[in-house]
Amino acid sequence: MATFVRNLRPLACRSSAVAAAASSSSSSSSSPQVTRSILRVLPAIRQSTRPLSSSQSRRQTTTGEPYDPTDVIPTPITHFSETETLMAEQVSRFAQDVILPKVRDMDEKEMMDPSIVEQCFEQGLMGIEVPEEYGGAGMNFTAAIVAIEELARVDPSVSVMVDVHNTLVNTTVLKYGTAESQRKWLPKLATNTVGSFCLSEPVSGSDAFALKTRAEKTADGYRINGSKMWITNSLEAGFFIVFANLDPSKGYKGISAFIVDKDTKGFSISKKEKKLGIKASSTCVVNFDDVDIPKGNLLGEEGQGYKYAIGILNEGRIGIAAQMTGLALGAWANAASYVWNDRKQFGQLVGEFQGMQHQLAQAYTEICAARALVYNAARKKEAGEDFVKDAAMAKLFSSQVAGRVSGQAIEWMGGMGFVREGLAEKYWRDSKIGAIYEGTSNIQLQTIARLLQKEYTH
Ligand SMILES: Cc1cc2nc3c(=O)[nH]c(=O)nc-3n(C[C@H](O)[C@H](O)[C@H](O)COP(=O)(O)OP(=O)(O)OC[C@H]3O[C@@H](n4cnc5c(N)ncnc54)[C@H](O)[C@@H]3O)c2cc1C
Repeated sequence: MATFVRNLRPLACRSSAVAAAASSSSSSSSSPQVTRSILRVLPAIRQSTRPLSSSQSRRQTTTGEPYDPTDVIPTPITHFSETETLMAEQVSRFAQDVILPKVRDMDEKEMMDPSIVEQCFEQGLMGIEVPEEYGGAGMNFTAAIVAIEELARVDPSVSVMVDVHNTLVNTTVLKYGTAESQRKWLPKLATNTVGSFCLSEPVSGSDAFALKTRAEKTADGYRINGSKMWITNSLEAGFFIVFANLDPSKGYKGISAFIVDKDTKGFSISKKEKKLGIKASSTCVVNFDDVDIPKGNLLGEEGQGYKYAIGILNEGRIGIAAQMTGLALGAWANAASYVWNDRKQFGQLVGEFQGMQHQLAQAYTEICAARALVYNAARKKEAGEDFVKDAAMAKLFSSQVAGRVSGQAIEWMGGMGFVREGLAEKYWRDSKIGAIYEGTSNIQLQTIARLLQKEYTH
């Protein structure tokens, strides 16, 4: 762990204004006492630099002036706005100072440290796109992607907790929650309540809409019965988005989305999975046994759940892709530090052998290519463009690169890469999940091929 590279910032452009703001807040971010550092610094940055919000729903500058995207001078894909750069700086410091010391222990115990969850809330990382009026950071999608990537450089488990909470759970409530449920839940989701997204079941993974969980109407609302499998965050969560079929005669068009509060009678968590990787992230079976919920807990319209799930998961895939590029960067930097600073053989640093240098260069090039896909997909989503193929390509390629690079990184470190003293072997174990959740690699390939065929069919 001592060989972990503390900062690998050159990948992102960074302005001096942000550097000043970041450094003025640096002492606070490293202290668990001083909280919500991102939120504290943002207003000043906004006033002084007039950053653009590029979210589709917010096509205006943050000072309220209308914004025409065609006026914006194209910049490199990995160029961050000032608020995004600030986000990267703050999260990087938080990950290094607060998360890194606990990573190995959380992995061995297969448990997320509750203080990490608490501090993710305190740092403002659990409501990145949630408007400020609800206690969130009111930032854009790319800021969330930046945070997910930075966290994954240190711990992909913490990264996926933040990812699922922001890109799946918060987004669903923001898009489809009633005004009342938004008022009730968004402040909690931004400040103290972890969320889970419950779609998969024992019988339905890739074929998600073959789900068997049922909902029926009651006098006051709905009753849910069934089981969900592999649910991320479920052990920590107090809030669950649940997909259930209200009218099986309509097939997948009967699927609706509901909010279930953990404290509702009939709700239980029955089994925590033991996993190959991302061990600190909880993955459980969740049961619904005559769970009665009020009418207002319906998200959007009855029978539209399948459409919502498809749309939300399309966005979510960019988050998983960012988790994978962050992981690849972390694994690469960890090994690069070792071979270029610590380990000598045949009288020289092992990183000075040309055979090693070429592999390091090749791997870094692949990481940069994956990041270009990730940030291009994020920017297209924010610009309101069709990003489905881009998101699928980003997730597919990033998870492949993460697997390759983290595997090679173990070899670059020799025996030191194989033992559990450092993090090299953990990055590799953690990388495997990138090709599985939120759509397997085959499912991504299927999406890409289907869209290409449509494009190229006369
Ligand atoms: C750690 C972890 C966390 C998870 N978190 C969540 C969560 O929070 N919420 C949630 O709802 N789900 C979650 N999942 C479930 C996850 O989304 C599914 O595991 C995933 O969608 C794959 O489904 P499956 O496991 O049933 O695999 P299967 O669908 O059984 O696939 C098995 C193999 O068959 C291939 N395959 C299937 N269909 C096709 C096809 N049409 N063409 C070609 N190949 C195909 C797949 O690519 C795969 O290689 C999680 C899973 C894990 C392991």
